[in-house]
Amino acid sequence: MVKICCIGAGYVGGPTMAVIALKCPSIEVAVVDISVPRISAWNSDQLPIYEPGLDEVVKQCRGKNLFFSTDVEKHVFEADIVFVSVNTPTKTRGLGAGKAADLTYWESAARMIADVSKSDKIVVEKSTVPVKTAEAIEKILTHNSKGINYQILSNPEFLAEGTAIKDLFNPDRVLIGGRQSPEGLKAIQALKDVYAHWVPEENIITTNLWSAELSKLAANAFLAQRISSVNAMSALCEATGADVTEVSYAVGKDTRIGPKFLNASVGFGGSCFQKDILNLVYICECNGLPEVAEYWKQVIKVNDYQKSRFVNRIVSSMFNTVANKKVAILGFAFKKDTGDTRETPAIDVCKGLLGDKAQLSIYDPQVTEDQIQRDLSMNKFDWDHPLHLQPMSPTTVKKVHTVWDAYEATKDAHAVCILTEWDEFKTLDFQRIYDQMQKPAFVFDGRNVVDGNKLRDIGFIVYAIGKPLDA
Ligand code: NAD
Repeated sequence: MVKICCIGAGYVGGPTMAVIALKCPSIEVAVVDISVPRISAWNSDQLPIYEPGLDEVVKQCRGKNLFFSTDVEKHVFEADIVFVSVNTPTKTRGLGAGKAADLTYWESAARMIADVSKSDKIVVEKSTVPVKTAEAIEKILTHNSKGINYQILSNPEFLAEGTAIKDLFNPDRVLIGGRQSPEGLKAIQALKDVYAHWVPEENIITTNLWSAELSKLAANAFLAQRISSVNAMSALCEATGADVTEVSYAVGKDTRIGPKFLNASVGFGGSCFQKDILNLVYICECNGLPEVAEYWKQVIKVNDYQKSRFVNRIVSSMFNTVANKKVAILGFAFKKDTGDTRETPAIDVCKGLLGDKAQLSIYDPQVTEDQIQRDLSMNKFDWDHPLHLQPMSPTTVKKVHTVWDAYEATKDAHAVCILTEWDEFKTLDFQRIYDQMQKPAFVFDGRNVVDGNKLRDIGFIVYAIGKPLDA
């Protein structure tokens, strides 16, 4: 029986390995992590992450050929294939701070693999890493090896949170990069054999290590760039009276462009887009390509601009101050169908409103009060001004209340601010909400999920991203 071990039981490691276990009953899969609470949660009925369809997959395989454990060394020792899916955040200090990927977790995983291995292993980069990381990993493994052959593969993950199970069941493509030597090609084939249990052969792409590593950064940069492009267009729509939804529809009808990822919003979030673009920027700078670095930086600058533009619109619409006004925040996760708040635009919007002394009442169906308090107390790293960090004061954070119902959040509020496109927000009883709010009652729709005209008929003053203001 082939044995797989995955180091890192997070948003990627957990769901990816659960699907491999489900689709490959002949393979034993162990997902290991240094975090005891995370592994306990994976072994309980309350999984550590919310992802539609995940519970069912885990329930079907857990205890049969899928195991979650903190005994990292034992499972690495036993595995034929070791996936490494640890976090690779942006470095916050030292060389490359604010841009470069922090590979500390990766390096310690690689050193541990070298320490405990007694047999040949395929080591798979599942985390998103800078191009050329495999070279560093090879050095760590081979310089510490005791006659063991390691083959490093790059197999970046393209799943999107919120649709992870669907994406893993039917991936657009599986990408496997490896050395083009006979041993490298054998390793590529071994990993192909795993995916071939359910992924059609034509959807499994094989290439060299550097192309695979760079493809993941490129894919995230292109996706984020589309969002920034449409968001930049949304500002122009508001200035001219065009409607961004209609512009996106017309543009997306062009088969060379296509309709996906053209929704204007308050900005992109999540743990990956910003981090991976910053990483790309750093790699370009290190390779003497400052103009290319500048190009990708702009994607993040437009995203930051979109968030501050939204805050400014709220404050200016509400007679230039939100001080002591209650603002209901609907949605805090960075997108619907996830409880993940990493880099969510809600953090910047809430901080902007708190900076003007608003009182916030926040409701999100999957985000806890602890998460919100933690996110709002944390510093945001400013990569242009790394020394100008200002933590939120504890008194400011006290102006935030988390509630478990959209109607509770909007009671006596001056404004409703929609920051996540949860489906349930589309069917709220806005007449009821209007009746219980202060007047004039404002709606600021950061995701274009509600029908602005219907809300105007009720009596709301409505601002929606990229929509004519007098619509
Ligand atoms: P995560 O923070 O949810 O999970 C990483 C896990 O690794 C944590 O539970 C951590 O405790 C564990 N870990 C760290 N060092 C370890 C070690 N030495 N031994 C054992 N466990 C260790 O991160 P994630 O969202 O799953 O992302 C993982 C990687 O996948 C990142 O590189 C990310 O960029 C990439 N990625 C993420 C997504 C996504 O949607 N989240 C999609 C594609 C790729």
